[in-house]
Amino acid sequence: MDIKIFEGEKTPFYYYDRELLERTLDSIEACTAGTPMKVHYAIKANATPELLRIISARGLGADCVSGNEIDLAVECGFDPSKIYYAGVGKTDEEIVTGLRHGIGCFNIESIEEIDILSQLASKEGKKATVALRINPNIDAHTHEYITTGLKENKFGIDLSLVEEAVRKVKESDSLDLGGLHFHIGSQITISEPFRILCERINELKTKLRLNGTELRFFNVGGGLGIDYDHPDENPIPDFRAYFDTILSNIDLDENQEVHCELGRAIVGQCGSLISKVVLVKKGLEKSFIIVDAGMSDLIRPALYGAHHKIENISAGPDTPIKTYDVVGPICESSDVFGKDELLPETKRGELVAFRSAGAYGSAMASRYNMRDIPGYLIK
Ligand SMILES: *Cc1c(COP(=O)(O)O)cnc(C)c1O
Repeated sequence: MDIKIFEGEKTPFYYYDRELLERTLDSIEACTAGTPMKVHYAIKANATPELLRIISARGLGADCVSGNEIDLAVECGFDPSKIYYAGVGKTDEEIVTGLRHGIGCFNIESIEEIDILSQLASKEGKKATVALRINPNIDAHTHEYITTGLKENKFGIDLSLVEEAVRKVKESDSLDLGGLHFHIGSQITISEPFRILCERINELKTKLRLNGTELRFFNVGGGLGIDYDHPDENPIPDFRAYFDTILSNIDLDENQEVHCELGRAIVGQCGSLISKVVLVKKGLEKSFIIVDAGMSDLIRPALYGAHHKIENISAGPDTPIKTYDVVGPICESSDVFGKDELLPETKRGELVAFRSAGAYGSAMASRYNMRDIPGYLIK
């Protein structure tokens, strides 16, 4: 990382590598051209408007989880017909926002929601396309907070209730059943859960067809992981393998599409949190690098026990290596970025980069301790 481009920036801030984002999108484009796969970007991963414009310019759809995200997606150039809206607790106001923008699909997460959406759509004089979000009861083998497709999770409609849900949607004059939606979790780095998901989808498709239900698309959700340990070796996820897993295992008819909603895999690697060393504190047992970024800027380590690769980007190449704990300034013991990190001998005023922070970094920033929301630089 050439730190000259960071001169004059107020730390901490997010740095987004525009070229890497473009190359990531190139790869998605190359891997999906001529296939029935349509890719949506999950805005919740990073809602920075400039990034959204880069992504929408490539023709991707948007996966939104709030009314504000829908407004922002439209503002940043996403085609409303490619905006899909998911969430277990959509408020009436948010649903109306979606209806008025004429979004492409509402992903319904409960039987109860069918009536609510049906009534609101009817009142607005609209016909809403819906997909039923099904909980496929699959273990995504990821962190318990980011696994979403197990029976005990709050998401989606239980497999046993699918037929009832289909019947209810069909009964409504203001709803049109477009497809089925799934999302089994996040930071999934093995193909097995996606393969099993496709099998579940095929079974459901067969079962519903027997009842005379034809579907236009299956949305497999997001969840493709990134390599947090080796951001330079693996800057772009293996989209080829991911799409191949889905496309070779799902049973599609002639005109059926398969959709996915990737967040982390699209923006994760292009972002780094850049922070300045406030001071280096020598303890009895170990030394602490105390940086000006904290869990209010990047909460993943504190929230999920996640680890972002840490680099001292100011140190020269021959600086001796030492062991440090790297911590933030916030009054919480969980405000720790790394323990026993091997880093070049570090001094006050140097810059540290937390890599692979483009997804669920700035998007989860808060003002805890009355701190500023971090700014950003796209170059
Ligand atoms: C969060 C989320 C995604 C994106 O997940 P990633 O792991 O970032 O790809 C996709 N779909 C839904 C419904 C989500 O909630």
